[in-house]
Amino acid sequence: MPFIALLGVPGAGKGTQAKRLSAALALPHVSSGDLFRENLKHGTPIGQEAEKYLSRGELVPDAITIEMIEERLAQTDGAAGAILDGFPRTARQADALENMAGGSLRAAVHVEVPIERLVERMAGRRVCREQGHVYHTKHKPPKEWGICDIDGSELYQRDDDKPETVRHRLKVYEEQTAPLVEYYRERGVLVTVNGDQPIEAVTEAILSSLEQEATS
Ligand code: ADP
Ligand code: ADP
Repeated sequence: MPFIALLGVPGAGKGTQAKRLSAALALPHVSSGDLFRENLKHGTPIGQEAEKYLSRGELVPDAITIEMIEERLAQTDGAAGAILDGFPRTARQADALENMAGGSLRAAVHVEVPIERLVERMAGRRVCREQGHVYHTKHKPPKEWGICDIDGSELYQRDDDKPETVRHRLKVYEEQTAPLVEYYRERGVLVTVNGDQPIEAVTEAILSSLEQEATS
């Protein structure tokens, strides 16, 4: 089974699409951001180490991040394939993924969204306490205000979604993650989709590009 990595600026819709692709393709959703937030919530050593980076909108050092993902993929459901959301984010992480997944990285999907959309995406993002399910006040509101449709837990706004931290995260993306688009283009696995359309249309675009990849 394949690995599919999602690339895109913070707020592009990686998490939203990863959940939908995970259901459509029956592959586990592995989100480095969710794993860090879980570790933080439970006060694990990884969580304690990661906290200062997350709160500043910096990347957590590669060694910690790579080890965390390796451990996750070593679990039975992740060994054969996964939808990777937010990993890799640096050249070193991409090299590590090449070692982990080898020839089974089927595609790196770049979800493209114009920068001017992101302020609104991040300002309206709400996440559930229990499992990190993602909503948007305008584009994906929950049925009941402030409550997760799926598990009934409270919705909150991430600390790092405040405008100053968002600006810094965009800068970090440009410097450290944007070069991965070229990295994957050179390897012939890059798929680019327009992320500036309704959620369902973005999923359709990704699935049909993956089918074309598979038959080309
Ligand atoms: P977004 O989906 O908005 O881009 P994430 O939930 O993916 O945000 O990530 C939140 C934070 O977690 C990042 O700002 C960073 O501090 C940390 N993080 C997530 N993934 C990685 C990674 N692959 N490498 C280093 N840090 C990461
Ligand atoms: P990322 O993981 O790339 O940071 P998210 O999936 O968390 O992005 O999406 C960021 C915010 O934008 C969320 O509030 C989400 O509900 C909303 N969103 C995601 N995709 C779309 C879309 N295609 N149109 C409008 N809003 C979207």
